[in-house]
Amino acid sequence: MYIAFSCSSKVVRTEITYHRNHEMLRRLLLQSATCYRRLPNACYFAPQLSAPVSPPPAPSPSITRSFSSSSSSQIPNSSLVEHVEDDANQTTSPPSAAISVDRSGLYNPPEHSHAPSSDSELIKHLKSIIKFRGGPISVAEYMEEVLTNPKAGFYINRDVFGAEGDFITSPEVSQMYGEMVGVWAMCLWEQMGQPNKVNLVELGPGRGTLMADLLRGASKFKNFTESLHIHMVECSPTLQKLQHSNLKCKYEDNMDDKMNKRAVSTLAGTPVTWHAALEQIPSGLPTIVIAHEFYDALPVHQFQRVSHGWCEKMVDLAEDSSFRFVLSPQPTPAKLYLMERSKWAATEEIAKLDHIEVCPKATELTQTIAKRIGSDGGGALIIDYGMDAVVSDSLQAIRQHKFVNILDDPGSADLSAYVDFASIRHSAEEASGDVSIHGPITQSQFLGSLGINFRVEALLQNCTDEQAESLRTGYWRLVGEGEAPFWEGPDEQVPIGMGTRYLAMAIVNKRQGVPVPFK
Ligand code: SAH
Repeated sequence: MYIAFSCSSKVVRTEITYHRNHEMLRRLLLQSATCYRRLPNACYFAPQLSAPVSPPPAPSPSITRSFSSSSSSQIPNSSLVEHVEDDANQTTSPPSAAISVDRSGLYNPPEHSHAPSSDSELIKHLKSIIKFRGGPISVAEYMEEVLTNPKAGFYINRDVFGAEGDFITSPEVSQMYGEMVGVWAMCLWEQMGQPNKVNLVELGPGRGTLMADLLRGASKFKNFTESLHIHMVECSPTLQKLQHSNLKCKYEDNMDDKMNKRAVSTLAGTPVTWHAALEQIPSGLPTIVIAHEFYDALPVHQFQRVSHGWCEKMVDLAEDSSFRFVLSPQPTPAKLYLMERSKWAATEEIAKLDHIEVCPKATELTQTIAKRIGSDGGGALIIDYGMDAVVSDSLQAIRQHKFVNILDDPGSADLSAYVDFASIRHSAEEASGDVSIHGPITQSQFLGSLGINFRVEALLQNCTDEQAESLRTGYWRLVGEGEAPFWEGPDEQVPIGMGTRYLAMAIVNKRQGVPVPFK
């Protein structure tokens, strides 16, 4: 439990390395177009949302993978390419009147009942936890089991990304994404004084695409790549293997430890190590952390306002053995997190909400990051969809590019929630006096300021028509907002921009000054 306080971070502004950074940026962006690994790229387009079910006071901006969830009060304003139809069936009853246990009013669609005989391993496991406890589990526990249960979690046994999978992320849209994050990392490394040993950590690297593009893009900058030791924090053995393959890793003898051969990415000759958690990475070296769409996978507790206060939303078993939501009659331990979060939010902000989500794991992770950066130097880049405010009811499930019910066939759909950037800022400030926090800014501002326009121009100089089309579409999807104006194909396939739906925040050691491009 942490003690909440509110203070604005003192930004140590130094002009130091902007000259050098910009020169590096210019050189990097003007490199000839060599990396067409994913071109021509499959395009994943978003059918339009089905008709809205109720007026949307949706948290703005509406975001990719955004909304459906169990709330009737919020729906996506638009969907992103891969994250398509809103499930109009999904509703939760409004906050109940004067009752202490509100099971009846909570949504429990009959079509989602599961015959015990067809239960998957994960469903059996979830049911056994609920039965063993003799009562419901929190949404956070449900989410954690569904996503990362070591035997049957959503991420554990398969590749869930891309057209054949369940959703797509920015690094999978275009190689330019990883390249731009690479530019950011190199600029920070410059600001750090070009240390000759740096940990480059990626949290939740998915297929390893971002890191592969980063290394390919940076491979000409030997001083930088030779300083790197890459650490991939990944819970999924399947994805670890995919990352190993996409980083083109080979094993080489480790002279210090003959028993353990170490993996080296042949993309830039950098050693790569895998870990289950950030804490496992040895401290003592300056560190650059990248967390792209990692925070949104961390488990959230959900609360609902009822007449006598806030109740935690829980997952229980109905009589027919299907999952259903209920409200906890008693205060739960997680209510402490809600109280802490509410303490430093404006009263009016809380007053207008009937649902609130809190993510204690995000707080813990941010504190670990901030302490590490505060003591070892370096910085972290967090990019995700979310809000710079208290998050209301954002948890959603996506299977094969469609929104589905959160309780339907757990383990077969991705679960994710909006990231509370205000909470991240607060947690980082609280954890270390040696870090400064910057942003959030929109993905469009982030990529634009790093020079993605120049990069796309450079790539377009040397490509086929098909590749050019794919590059332009990818570029639009990364930085655009709304529907692509140039689109001439079928309406239901119009690319939708992710530029304002995703936000970028940096946590850096104060010694480093203000990171590019968070001026
Ligand atoms: N960053 C990638 C993938 C995002 S999906 C991209 O943008 O394409 C989330 C990733 O985090 C997956 O690789 C998933 O396996 C991993 N992950 C989720 N929860 C995790 C946890 N608790 N510990 C470690 N890895 C986790």
